[in-house]
Amino acid sequence: MAQYKAPLRDIRYALHEVLRLEHHYRDIGRADVNAELVDSVLEECARFAEDVVAPTNEAGDRIGVQRTDDGQVITPPGFKEAYRQYVEDGWAALCGPADAGGQGLPESFGGPVGEMLVAANMSWKLYSGLTDSAVLCVAKHADPELRATYLPKLVSGVWSGTMVLTESHAGTDLGLMRARAEPAGDGSYRISGTKIFITSGDHDLAENIVHMVLAKLPDAPAGSRGISLFLVPKFLPDSDGNPGAANGVSCAGIEHKLGIHGSATCVMDFAGSRGWLVGEPNGGLKCMFTMMNHARLWVGLQGLAQCERAYQAAVAYARDRRQGRTSSGGASAAADPIIGHPDVRRMLLTQKALIEAGRVLTYFAGMQMDRALHHPDAAERERADGLLAILTPIVKGFVTDMSLECTSHAIQVHGGHGYVRETGVEQCFRDARITAIYEGTNGVQAMDLLGRKVLGSGGELARLLGGLIGGFCEKHAGSSQLSEFVTRLAGLLKEWSEATEQVATRAARNPDEAGAAAMDYLMLTGYLCFAWCWVRMAAVSTAALAKGAEGRDFHEAKLATARFYFERILPRAEAHLDALGAGAKSVMELPADRFAF
Ligand SMILES: Cc1cc2nc3c(=O)[nH]c(=O)nc-3n(C[C@H](O)[C@H](O)[C@H](O)COP(=O)(O)OP(=O)(O)OC[C@H]3O[C@@H](n4cnc5c(N)ncnc54)[C@H](O)[C@@H]3O)c2cc1C
Repeated sequence: MAQYKAPLRDIRYALHEVLRLEHHYRDIGRADVNAELVDSVLEECARFAEDVVAPTNEAGDRIGVQRTDDGQVITPPGFKEAYRQYVEDGWAALCGPADAGGQGLPESFGGPVGEMLVAANMSWKLYSGLTDSAVLCVAKHADPELRATYLPKLVSGVWSGTMVLTESHAGTDLGLMRARAEPAGDGSYRISGTKIFITSGDHDLAENIVHMVLAKLPDAPAGSRGISLFLVPKFLPDSDGNPGAANGVSCAGIEHKLGIHGSATCVMDFAGSRGWLVGEPNGGLKCMFTMMNHARLWVGLQGLAQCERAYQAAVAYARDRRQGRTSSGGASAAADPIIGHPDVRRMLLTQKALIEAGRVLTYFAGMQMDRALHHPDAAERERADGLLAILTPIVKGFVTDMSLECTSHAIQVHGGHGYVRETGVEQCFRDARITAIYEGTNGVQAMDLLGRKVLGSGGELARLLGGLIGGFCEKHAGSSQLSEFVTRLAGLLKEWSEATEQVATRAARNPDEAGAAAMDYLMLTGYLCFAWCWVRMAAVSTAALAKGAEGRDFHEAKLATARFYFERILPRAEAHLDALGAGAKSVMELPADRFAF
């Protein structure tokens, strides 16, 4: 497979030229994070991703995680060394809070850095991915003593974090969970139960593992209102804060799965393990959402990263592989590179169009996290919080859904050579597949978008997103160079707003209407947001070309890809509008016993 090369030119374009990161950092009082600093960190990260992390990817997939007879979980070759360097070089602490030893860079910085590291080796990055989410949760909800004990170690990466929700009978429906927490009488709790599918539940990379566990107190109300959150370390810290006695937390097995073979997906037993309450009793889901919302953006990023890696391989292969004759080919060889065939170009352009819009949207969502936390103006914080709320299920649900399409196209470009392991591109497809499932399946994201965010806010969050896109259309309405895009974007926005109203009216009469509409609504909204991203890019590149800025080829490629997106991908939005208009009847009329005879 072609070596992963961090797409620094496109990352810089998204951050500096489209999203104007320097202005954004100035807005949130971080003028110290200037373009020069951003670029130097990105370049350093690209080197680390390409030279240290990426070489561990193939063996990680082939060899996978091992579990010894005595229950030790051993990560694949090279993972430990790369993780050690990740900690020593300060990558783990990059966005960690400064008062806990972190470098305090804004959260949005985690986007491009995370993308490069996941693309280099997704399984490896998963060992630290949830630590970042756990840091946010502990910093926000834990009491001062827990924060003092655990945050510095988590921030530095010396200890890692997990997110422990799922049980065999309680996945999407967490209200069904059985894990128990009994008060121990000394302010701590005894946690008992078995959890499944726990990412990085056990491993040999960090000195200690800090589990963020959902469980029920003895007097808890039934269902999801009776869930509490506990911090449960693998080893109890001793009086010096170092890992001490074992805490009754063990890995009972590791899953053998389709992809991310190097990531330890563990069955975890908690046998009266000591834990400490985080947040209020029975308020665990609320605290866990701090972690989950962060993790959902992070999963969107995982989808994007897999697309990029697969796309790079597909482009390299399509330039090299010769089969048949193309209209642009020469007579010097027996056959022409397949990149000349219209159908191969269609597959490559589809990937390029989805990846580059996905990058802008994902980074933009990350910037809303900065603004919601740090903007000096309360109204702007509230606005950013609203945008983040509505964008999170779109980034998680839509970008990861697109990653399945993109990585599949990358295999198709390779023909049979993509299906066999040798080219390595099938790993991207297998690794990407989980992104549509964990952190709440994409069906759950669709219901979150339509049910909780749009209908639950009385349409306010939809108006916020619509206002953002509509404001952009108004600003560029007079531009003759952009009119082909802006007119279509404004038209689709109007159709989306009308469809939102119609679904809301129908859902008020029949809840199945919302459930049946949710996935089409997510897809429609995703295509709308990507169209907005593409017009933003078209505006930037048109201006750059008019100014005679450097990189003419790059900007012309952007405009060509924008046209491809509008002409060849955006029509899919109409199909989703039609499906939305059809309502729930055909989805619901077939009785369960007639699905198969
Ligand atoms: C590799 C891997 C790593 C994971 N890592 C973690 C982890 O670190 N921590 C953790 O706690 N969990 C983890 N999970 C669990 C993951 O989050 C769950 O698998 C996921 O949330 C879905 O739960 P489930 O598998 O029980 O499916 P179910 O909840 O049984 O869902 C099955 C299907 O029904 C649909 N469905 C369910 N309920 C509804 C509903 N109300 N309305 C409409 N459709 C519905 C779902 O969308 C899905 O298509 C991981 C899973 C895997 C495979």
